[in-house]
Amino acid sequence: VFDVSKPWLNRVIERRAKAYLTAVSDVDFDIAERSTYALVGESGSGKSTIGRMLVGLLRPTAGNVEIDGVDLANETDAAKVDLIRSDIQMIFQDPYASLNPRWRVRDIIVEPVAARGGNTDGLAARLLEQVGLSALDAGKFPHEFSGGQRQRICIARALASEPRLIVCDEPTSALDVSVQAQVLNLMSDLKDDFGLTYVFISHDLTVVRHMADRIGVLYLGRLVEEASPRDLFEAPKHPYTQMLLEAAPRMDGFGREVAPPEGEIPDPINPPTGCAFHPRCPIAQDICKHERPEMKQHGNARAACHFASLEP
Ligand code: SF4
Ligand code: MG
Repeated sequence: VFDVSKPWLNRVIERRAKAYLTAVSDVDFDIAERSTYALVGESGSGKSTIGRMLVGLLRPTAGNVEIDGVDLANETDAAKVDLIRSDIQMIFQDPYASLNPRWRVRDIIVEPVAARGGNTDGLAARLLEQVGLSALDAGKFPHEFSGGQRQRICIARALASEPRLIVCDEPTSALDVSVQAQVLNLMSDLKDDFGLTYVFISHDLTVVRHMADRIGVLYLGRLVEEASPRDLFEAPKHPYTQMLLEAAPRMDGFGREVAPPEGEIPDPINPPTGCAFHPRCPIAQDICKHERPEMKQHGNARAACHFASLEP
């Protein structure tokens, strides 16, 4: 878990993701409070970039991120923005890289609170128990824990500042499959206990199926479909979603991609004209090469495809 107030980190991430910034566009979705919104796509789809915009690690060059009616990207009242930002935390994929190896777990967990001058008495012990570890673990160092335990520590740290929204960027994809399920279950329980809202970023539709209330599918920086898990799995509207679902059994059991779905992923910096998916799309027509499909409503789902299935 990164503290969004660390400017050096912002610079590193900004440099790495700069090229992708312009590549994310036409991404428009609403997240209901206390729900889980999953953003799914292959690498280069822009899902992490969007996650980082939500927590303020990246600034959108256009458009906005609105929370409680406050436009975080354009609001000029810094105090107002800070207050809302303190309600948002992020959990990253790699629990090894996101914990300072020289710090004791106690100090890692309370750091976001201590940095704001908050009360940290008994906080680490309480949070460790809430994430299924022991209060006695507070004095240990990160290397004394397994990957799954480290991710629990990251979750405890995210919870320390009593956030309302947690952006989880592939939180279990570095973990063994048996541990994945435990961490996902923990996250579900915590969501109920703390009244949390999640944005859950993943490349794996099967991981988000049981977590998400809504799923947004991204392709090359654009939202191509949005639906409930049920609609998405039973009646996917967009050919890319259909391709992802067909590719799902090819995951290696650890949630890692064995091979990407058919066809090369084009360069997100220079996406194809028209519908960016047309070079890989099995039902592409001439119009797809030069006319970009708008997002259209299909029942309770939305899809951006000239030939999206109209059946319910
Ligand atoms: Fe395929 Fe055309 Fe639909 Fe794009 S708009 S997904 S190319 S059918
Ligand atoms: Mg990523």
